Amino acid sequence: MLLMTPGPTPSPEFLRRAMAKESIHHRTPEFEAIFERVRNRLKAFMGSSEVIFLASTGSGAMESALTHFCARRALTINAGKFGERWSKIAKAYGKNPLELKYGWDTPAKIEDIENALKNNPEIDALFIQVCESSGGLRHPVEAIAGAAKALRSDLFVIADGITAVGVERFDTANIDALIVGSQKAFMLPPGLAAIGLSQKAVKHIESTGGAGFYFNLATELKNQRKNTTAWTAATTIIQGLDAFFAELDGGGEDSFYAATIRRHEAGTAALKAIGARIYPLAPALSMLSVFHPKASEIRKWIKKEARVNAGGGQDDLKDTLIRINNMGFVLPSEIAWSLNAVEIAMDKIGARKYDGAANRVFTETYYR
Ligand SMILES: *Cc1c(COP(=O)(O)O)cnc(C)c1O
Repeated sequence: MLLMTPGPTPSPEFLRRAMAKESIHHRTPEFEAIFERVRNRLKAFMGSSEVIFLASTGSGAMESALTHFCARRALTINAGKFGERWSKIAKAYGKNPLELKYGWDTPAKIEDIENALKNNPEIDALFIQVCESSGGLRHPVEAIAGAAKALRSDLFVIADGITAVGVERFDTANIDALIVGSQKAFMLPPGLAAIGLSQKAVKHIESTGGAGFYFNLATELKNQRKNTTAWTAATTIIQGLDAFFAELDGGGEDSFYAATIRRHEAGTAALKAIGARIYPLAPALSMLSVFHPKASEIRKWIKKEARVNAGGGQDDLKDTLIRINNMGFVLPSEIAWSLNAVEIAMDKIGARKYDGAANRVFTETYYR
């Protein structure tokens, strides 16, 4: 079965092999050497001053960001399940979130954020997704973060980059905490998260002594600067991440990002060629997200007959979205086959007659 969901993404063989090596104890010079290498590489990759690993999925890092950077009130951007999660976490900690809600296809507007900040001086932290994975939507995070900081230099800007880091290069200059997780663009099993930090965020963590216990970033920072972790590290996944960077650096970052763009352009052209409606108004590069009234039937058919497991939607869009992964080292052939399968399925359900346009246009655009 071809796993084409936009997370978890499939681990390619070279990553599975790296993680199948002999187990290493985390309190050893051997592991510390790997940890140091991966930590420095991820720091550069994210454009952050510091990076802290956590043994959890991305939501653990989201929770930790909230407990550290929001003392009074949170401003949350909800254009899908992950934005909604920011609000839920803020509520769980009594931070009375001011939530700006958008349709799952609609990017957040800079002036809405500016107005919220102007009218609510008690807000001290902004929480947003770079890519809201629910609909495959790209928020204009760089511009929002810049405008928010221009209004309020003391504000903390926290961005969930779980389906954006490793998908595209973007400006992190106005982001204080940038969150990543192992099971999306890094193509690793779930269970490792990291937070990239600005200088300002580091100073804040050091001066406050952090927050909480397991997810205390001050405790972790102290340890991780010495290339160890406060608690048992997710050793196997960190070894996998080391292998990810070795592969990435073998081919080069530029060509890795260029390939992601190229697959997305070809996939988008192919979908348009078969009359499919691209769902988000500002599509992220991490996936191909399609709205179809019979998306559920299409997904069922491609899974059973073409052995392609694509993602669906959630909540109101449960039966009307198809989401196909474009993160990591996914092959153009895998996307071409998935879109071809979608086209056949559309024929099978009587939506559109099959003429091979998806595969043809994908290939033509990809090799243009
Ligand atoms: C996958 C994902 C997460 C993390 O969810 P977990 O269930 O904790 O792994 C957070 N934000 C976004 C945008 C995601 O795509």
